[in-house]
Amino acid sequence: MGNGSNENNDQEWELRLKLAATYRIFDYLGWTSIIFNHITTRIPGPEHNFLINPFGLRYDEVTASNLVKVDANGKKVRGSNYEEWDINQAGFTIHSAIHNKIEDALCIMHTHTPAGLAVACKTDGLSNTNIYSSMIYDRISYHDFEGVALRDDEQERLVNSIGSNSLLILRNHGLLSTGRTIEEAFVRLWTLQMACETQVLTESMLGPNIEVTREATAFNIKEVRLFNDAPRKSDKSFDALLRIVDKIDPSYKS
Ligand SMILES: [Zn+2]
Repeated sequence: MGNGSNENNDQEWELRLKLAATYRIFDYLGWTSIIFNHITTRIPGPEHNFLINPFGLRYDEVTASNLVKVDANGKKVRGSNYEEWDINQAGFTIHSAIHNKIEDALCIMHTHTPAGLAVACKTDGLSNTNIYSSMIYDRISYHDFEGVALRDDEQERLVNSIGSNSLLILRNHGLLSTGRTIEEAFVRLWTLQMACETQVLTESMLGPNIEVTREATAFNIKEVRLFNDAPRKSDKSFDALLRIVDKIDPSYKS
């Protein structure tokens, strides 16, 4: 194997570091549900293996080395932490269905944040009444709720629901974002989360809402560039949050 193997290991370790940091960023932002939900990334290479959080740990306990490597079917790949941790099989089925069927979905983030879930419980879903919604409106797909765990025959329906979009509102359930990089999935999800938080507050006030115009929406989608042709390889806001988690607790690097 020689250098090739070492390069792959280096690449996997870099990915482990960044993914573990992303769990800590989610924890800092409060986008957590104790030990549930997942952020997953595909490890580059022909094997189509993924990294996922060990089941039972909070996001602030995730580290580069305790992330679990699984294959496309959610079976653990033998490695240093093989015996130590299991994964949430039921939770992983949503991620594996998308990772396996959508080539560009290299990173998938899924949350049950109260504001995101609240919007997912409304028949009309996300409204286009604020600056954040206007950056993503018309680029969001919806999937009807069929129960907590994804059954085999729902996998295809889920992938069909997403279509060519990278943001998904799981009705009655939560939010989901995909990207070709961690940064890309993150900035999309952050924008959707902000749109949902704003909508919840807006809907709590009396009086009519102001719809964002089609022209402003088209302008913002073009200007903010969350859906570029080229993958987002870095992001200043993601880096800014990285510096916070580094300051709070750099143990994710172990
Ligand atoms: Zn969920």
